[in-house]
Amino acid sequence: MRIYSHTSLKQAQRCYKAWAYKYIERLQPKERPAHLARGSNLHEGLFHLYDGDEASMGVWVLESSDEDVAIIERYAEHWTDTWDVLHAEEEFRMQLGDHWVTFIPDLVVEINGEVWIVDHKTTANIPDEYDPYNMTDFQHLLYVGGLRQLGYNVKGFIFNYIRTKAPTEPKLIKDGSRIANLRAIDTTPEILQAFAEMHGMETMEDVQDKLMILRHTPNRYFQRHFLMVPDEAVEQAMADTEAVLDELAAKEENDGPWPRHVISKGGGYMSCGKCDYQPICHADLLGINRDAVLLDYIERPRRSE
Ligand code: SF4
Repeated sequence: MRIYSHTSLKQAQRCYKAWAYKYIERLQPKERPAHLARGSNLHEGLFHLYDGDEASMGVWVLESSDEDVAIIERYAEHWTDTWDVLHAEEEFRMQLGDHWVTFIPDLVVEINGEVWIVDHKTTANIPDEYDPYNMTDFQHLLYVGGLRQLGYNVKGFIFNYIRTKAPTEPKLIKDGSRIANLRAIDTTPEILQAFAEMHGMETMEDVQDKLMILRHTPNRYFQRHFLMVPDEAVEQAMADTEAVLDELAAKEENDGPWPRHVISKGGGYMSCGKCDYQPICHADLLGINRDAVLLDYIERPRRSE
């Protein structure tokens, strides 16, 4: 029985060509895009925060940027959790038809006797809305299905948003009579309140107005969205995924074909613009000698998938 990682499955759903570059040619870009490296460093900080190993957390702090450390500190101050952590980044395995899929939830927690799966989402801006039944990403439905298969009574999924931008520190205008850019300032009410008090401006009308807006809009830095997951949605997602895996396994057996997905100029997660394999894909598409492009890739280390 073939075992696929959830990451590999996601890549196949995104584009078979990219899947073949990654899992057949075993290519990996020499350098990781900065936003991905940042996201995985923050995930690591959160892992140490929740697994409670202070020595590892100390090493992480020493090796991380001040900005990343400040985000994790503000997160820990913001959420005084009563979560009982059952698993932090542990690998599980689920069966889908003739295939196994491995997956690693960021956290599995118990809240008031109910089990929830947590996904940390580091992002430049927390979206106003998120479509939880996004057809291109069944991750949360599969994770819930996988843990239910293993006997966990999972209630649902928590999207744990963490913004990577720090709140803006207020400043005074040149003559010191007002706070600069007050109307548009992107900060927290606590920071603005403290600054206004330090400068004796807390009773000014525009400061009061801004504080009221900040206090009555959803938190812009940390948010948690809870999603209760019905069995029907999980069953559909598992059936769809099993069909994708059947197709992928048949392609592997027949050595392809590995078609490119509909080439899009969009900037979203599924777009070619966000694909690690765009340079080699374009070289192959245009029939250009790929050797020069291959210099920007290294061979992915082997591990069981
Ligand atoms: S650039 Fe687009 S078509 Fe090419 S491998 Fe990547 S996602 Fe697929």
